Amino acid sequence: MPSAAASAREILVRLHDVMAGRTAPQAKLNAVVQIIGEAIGSEVCSIYLLREGVLELYATRGLAQEAVHVTKLALGEGLVGTIAEDVEVLNLDEATSHPNFVHNPETGEERFHSFAGVPIIRRERAVGVLAVQHVDPRRYQDVEIEALQTVAMVLSELIANAGLVDVATTGADRPQSTASVRLPGLKLVEGMGAGCAVYHQPRITVEHTVAEDIDAERHRVYAAFDKMREQIDRITREAEFGMAGEHDEVIATYKMFAYDEGWSRRINEAIDSGLTAEAAIERVQQRTRQRMRQIDDPLLADRMHDLEDLSNRLLRIVSGQMGTAAQFGLRRDTILIARNLGPAELLEYDKRRLKGVVLGEGSLTAHVTIVARAMGVPVLGRVAGLRRTIAEGDLLLLDSTESNVFVRPSAAMEEAFESKLAVRQKRKAAYARLRDVPPVTKDGERITLMVNAGLRDDAAALDLTGADGIGLFRTEFQFLVSSSLPQRERQQRLYKEVLDAAGDRPVVFRTVDIGGDKALPYLVTASADEENPAMGWRALRLALERDGLMKAQARALIDAAAGRTLNVMFPMVSEPWEFDEAKALFEAQRAWIGARGKRLPTEIRYGAMLEVPALAEQLDILLPKIQFLSVGTNDLTQFLFAADRANPKLAERYDWLSPSILRFLARLVAPARAAGVDLGVCGEMGGRPLEAMALIGLGIDRLSITPAAVGPLKAMVRSLDAGALRTAMTAWLAHPPRDLRDVLTAWAAEAGVELA
Ligand code: PEP
Ligand code: MG
Repeated sequence: MPSAAASAREILVRLHDVMAGRTAPQAKLNAVVQIIGEAIGSEVCSIYLLREGVLELYATRGLAQEAVHVTKLALGEGLVGTIAEDVEVLNLDEATSHPNFVHNPETGEERFHSFAGVPIIRRERAVGVLAVQHVDPRRYQDVEIEALQTVAMVLSELIANAGLVDVATTGADRPQSTASVRLPGLKLVEGMGAGCAVYHQPRITVEHTVAEDIDAERHRVYAAFDKMREQIDRITREAEFGMAGEHDEVIATYKMFAYDEGWSRRINEAIDSGLTAEAAIERVQQRTRQRMRQIDDPLLADRMHDLEDLSNRLLRIVSGQMGTAAQFGLRRDTILIARNLGPAELLEYDKRRLKGVVLGEGSLTAHVTIVARAMGVPVLGRVAGLRRTIAEGDLLLLDSTESNVFVRPSAAMEEAFESKLAVRQKRKAAYARLRDVPPVTKDGERITLMVNAGLRDDAAALDLTGADGIGLFRTEFQFLVSSSLPQRERQQRLYKEVLDAAGDRPVVFRTVDIGGDKALPYLVTASADEENPAMGWRALRLALERDGLMKAQARALIDAAAGRTLNVMFPMVSEPWEFDEAKALFEAQRAWIGARGKRLPTEIRYGAMLEVPALAEQLDILLPKIQFLSVGTNDLTQFLFAADRANPKLAERYDWLSPSILRFLARLVAPARAAGVDLGVCGEMGGRPLEAMALIGLGIDRLSITPAAVGPLKAMVRSLDAGALRTAMTAWLAHPPRDLRDVLTAWAAEAGVELA
């Protein structure tokens, strides 16, 4: 018995010549059916192609020639239609025994009993069917089916190149279904957006299927496997220390698949049969997909998704197409899809076209989420089965307010989406009307509402929202969007522009907070080798050691703020001496610039971020040194709960309204007030109306929040009796109820507080 590889190779060598020839596509297909029929000794060999939604007999050896272009079958009709619809193989010794069998008298096929057919697949959908038939009732052997499937891959290239099938069915990377679906997820950034699906890591379409040099293809695959295993090992190492933000099981499966000898062997066998490395990877993937489809097990389906991902990774490596969709630019309104993204990766996309992001993973305080929030891009995270359900180019309606994304929406879904959008626009307009209204509580307390910013355009948010200033300017965003370290002059230009845009309103510049999940590709922070970078060499720790970076930034800030007040804030201060060192560095730069007769800021106000719980134990030492203290609740809560902020598994586990957090924050209020230090919160927590209400209930009256939250927060503040809440809060913190969130929500409803 010939091996599958040998039979396929023999056919492929001959097909290669046909494909390279200069004859018309129809002549090529006529030759193809002859070659295949002869090679596997089959009396009938036919090719059906999907055109205008139906399968048309396009070439045949053995059936009546008059039936060519005449016999047509709908998807799901007859054996051929069934194969195409299910993207499955059929192998029958008696064709008529199949329930879907239909008789096509014009073909003269009654004489033939046995029937086998395989789908011709392009981008995971059947674009045609390759079928063989015999007079004798006999089942085709596995090797023959294998050979047919390999040949079908090559045919798919041939017919795509010849433009023989519907563009509509092959133009997009379609998953199995084209029905409308609603996928649930976790709301990471609230909002609604409509656009076409674009995968951050595009799927590779195999263009060349027949190998010229089998040895060379084999080597390409070996090299790709090595590289992929290296990547997976790195991800595994990172995941073991909770840094990578990937699920443990996914990593474990990844690793298992990456080292699976069976997988690499099957790919090698496919190469032996004459396929290119890319086609071989795809061929094995198709086969696995088919096998898995027969097993109805959701757990296995998930694993399938992982294998798809890995297979795509291998394809990208072998084909050298490592770029992301950002490099090609967005051509229309887009919803970006990815398993996960880094903040810098997101910033590469054109903000005007990016209408939303859908992630397989993600968590509320991961920096990518914060960046998206700053960009005003809605994000839905933890959506399962993305590759399985969403095809590149599909229309998506993202409604993260309801934690949903609608895929290929029906007209009714679109209508409902539009009308909801209209309501939101109305509400937005109402918030916009609050622009010039101050955030004063019902009992007369003025709350300071500032915005978080980091990009040049963010300064415009001040005018749009009527915020009191920029309470956190994340200077590292400029570093994240640059392809090389931004020089001092560039930094200075940005800072000056932001100060100019802010006018009289204060801007608090936070010195660079890099490291952790904000790695810079051009700067070797230790992150890559660190076991736990969130708690590692990052932010001020890194800046104090790499003081060249901080000196340049200090000079840029001091120069930019000449003649005005400069507010500087240091991230991740863990001990008061770190603050001292950072301030001394700034003061030395001030002296240096002053000594050169240059104009200086009228005042430099220094502040620290409270993100590391340990610092709270030395407040008495720190407070006399600083003018303001800003609580970074994103980092603070990850350290208080020992829960990685980027780990999707922990995304919903702990609540900001937990007594632990609220009690911790409450303890800061009196000492800060006594020391005359402004105390505020600049983490994401402050941007949520209920959480912000709780913070005000603790006595924290300065919040720096995402611009989109200013309107809703003003509405909340103006409907709140802060004194009444404070009394209630004192009692709740003394004897915490089981679910403080519920209690706060009920209190707000009772008191008529507007919670958007
Ligand atoms: C924080 O940690 O709460 C914070 C505001 O800083 P970042 O999110 O940039 O780490
Ligand atoms: Mg932080």
